[in-house]
Amino acid sequence: MNTFETGPIRPPSEAGSYLIRLTRGCPWNKCKFCRSYRKRSFEIRDIAEVEADIDAMARIRDEIKSGGPVHDQYGWMVKNALSSGGTTAFLQDGDSLAMKPDAVRHILGHFKERFPEVTRITSYARSRTMSTRSVDDLVSYRELGLTRIHIGMESGHDPLLEIVKKGVTADGHIRGGKRVVEAGIELSEYIMPGLGGREFTEGHAVDSARVLNEIGPDFIRFRTICLGSKLPLWEEFSSGKLTRLTDIEIVKEIRTFIEALDVDGVKIASDHILNLLGELDGRLPEDKDRLLGIIDTFLSLPKYDRELFQVARRAGMLEKLSDLDHPRIRTKAKEILEEIYRHYGKDGVDEAMQEMMERFI
Ligand code: SF4
Repeated sequence: MNTFETGPIRPPSEAGSYLIRLTRGCPWNKCKFCRSYRKRSFEIRDIAEVEADIDAMARIRDEIKSGGPVHDQYGWMVKNALSSGGTTAFLQDGDSLAMKPDAVRHILGHFKERFPEVTRITSYARSRTMSTRSVDDLVSYRELGLTRIHIGMESGHDPLLEIVKKGVTADGHIRGGKRVVEAGIELSEYIMPGLGGREFTEGHAVDSARVLNEIGPDFIRFRTICLGSKLPLWEEFSSGKLTRLTDIEIVKEIRTFIEALDVDGVKIASDHILNLLGELDGRLPEDKDRLLGIIDTFLSLPKYDRELFQVARRAGMLEKLSDLDHPRIRTKAKEILEEIYRHYGKDGVDEAMQEMMERFI
């Protein structure tokens, strides 16, 4: 049968990739800010099942490439990957490399046989799982085509990691991350601005930078926290244990973080709609001053313009600060901002922004 199983999530950078599901859910599933796999228990799929999926994908690819029609959702998924070049794949779900190393090798080997044209295979993994794999195992994955691992580090600040139940310490992040780097696999680490509220903002920024300086990843990506009452973490904020940061405070936290970063060659990316400043994109050390300059430009805007930018960004109307100079965007943003003032009052923009962000999740 030409069908295959896919999981619910992949990084934005894998939007055009073949999705190969090795596992279902997350073996940890306790992080208080994450609802991705809440409703399901973790399962490792059979090797034969995954290989049958890969075979089905290969048959569909061959049909499409020889001019055949796209029949169904499976066809559209393969066509989507082909339209993006057909050279990238992503292993799902949340911690796919929790699978036994021999099984991972089997699957990677099978995929390589069926899709020799794929040059980039990536996967999510937990730092803790990576720290339990030998460098030799990881090297063997790389030799079979695994090129990049995405780790949700979120923070390098131990008291905060404890509160959000990340299930790993700063040292654990360092051990797991370094092992990936040592194996020669590209490492992409995700940081969650705003995670610890006002109480942890300084420690979160400084320790996250310190841990990343030790690991030396290839990419650092921001995923701003999006708090909502359905998150288990909400309890910490609604009880007053943590105080939610405003957009401006989150931008200041990111500034402290970038200033403390000292990783040669790392690429910083702000490629998620939840991040206010989507243009924080560059390489260290050469772009550090430019990135800090973008932040300072935003922070020095008059309050009204800052609010216009917040509104326009959350409404999906712009990405860069300079986009605000566009008359059409500015006029539309003004209309929305006036509406917000009417409903929430002149000091209610942050409240309105939080509601807009919650709609994204
Ligand atoms: S390890 Fe990742 S997928 Fe699992 S619960 Fe935490 S954030 Fe979610």
